[in-house]
Amino acid sequence: MIFGALEAGGTKMVLAIGNEHGEILEQTSIPTETPDITMPKIIDYFKTKEIKALGIGSFGPIDLNRQSATYGFITSTPKLSWANYNIVGTIKEALQVPIGFDTDVNGSALGEATWGSTRDVAFSIYITIGTGIGIGVYQNGSLLHGMLHPEGGHILLNKHENDSFLGVCPYHPNCFEGLASGPSIEKRWGKKADQLKDNNEVWEMEAYYLAQAIVNYILVLSPHRIVLGGGVMHQEQLFPLIRNKVKELLNGYVKTPELENLDDYIVPAALNDNQGIMGCIQLAKMELGIK
Ligand code: ADP
Ligand code: ZN
Repeated sequence: MIFGALEAGGTKMVLAIGNEHGEILEQTSIPTETPDITMPKIIDYFKTKEIKALGIGSFGPIDLNRQSATYGFITSTPKLSWANYNIVGTIKEALQVPIGFDTDVNGSALGEATWGSTRDVAFSIYITIGTGIGIGVYQNGSLLHGMLHPEGGHILLNKHENDSFLGVCPYHPNCFEGLASGPSIEKRWGKKADQLKDNNEVWEMEAYYLAQAIVNYILVLSPHRIVLGGGVMHQEQLFPLIRNKVKELLNGYVKTPELENLDDYIVPAALNDNQGIMGCIQLAKMELGIK
């Protein structure tokens, strides 16, 4: 069976066709311009593919409440041409197929939980550290929503003692995204994150913020495993720094077999940056009631 997958990002749209095993049969991407320009291209791509359903993992905030009049809309995004835009409705009208819809990072959480590094556990969290920071939460085949959806990138953190940087979030001087996203690293240190590999101070500070956030997620949600993905996590030296700091901050308070071995608890994504698009294939399947 053939499914469509759309990873809708603020800078690019990834479009793919895949089967029920999560195998991607073809994939392309186009820049995210205005809906007038970009949406007809998306519809044209899928129109001839005979997909049974489509899964969309979208940048947000988005409306996931199926009872809401604006279900399937991108809502209050600062990308103004996409604000209050009915992305699901527009595609559904053109393609006439069932559409699964969730946040981009819930999509990545689902991809990893279905085929990747969390496929053997019931409850997992995926954290993306890229242009923004977001979390997806997966439990037993479903993704966590609430009045909106988790906005775990904006939890408030203690500043590192050597950090005088004001953060890049326009809403919060000390939130996770403002202090630890790719753009915040670049602005604090004056160079792109991928050019700072040998500067230990950068990664020690980054690990301090990531570890604080992870400790808070562990205490609130008690996941069986945590996956870290996104561009910044290509700095693999972060993993041991983060694990050590998590251990120090938890200070032995939570005792579980999982936390005995942090190498197996705080892990990289396993799907080679395809976790998002593969998650969209699973969203499409779930919309048809297929596990
Ligand atoms: P997006 O979040 O836009 O979907 P990414 O997850 O690739 O895309 O995140 C982009 C951010 O990650 C940028 O701020 C970039 O500087 C940073 N980044 C990308 N590659 C690396 C790398 N190898 N090392 C450190 N940071 C990186
Ligand atoms: Zn914030």
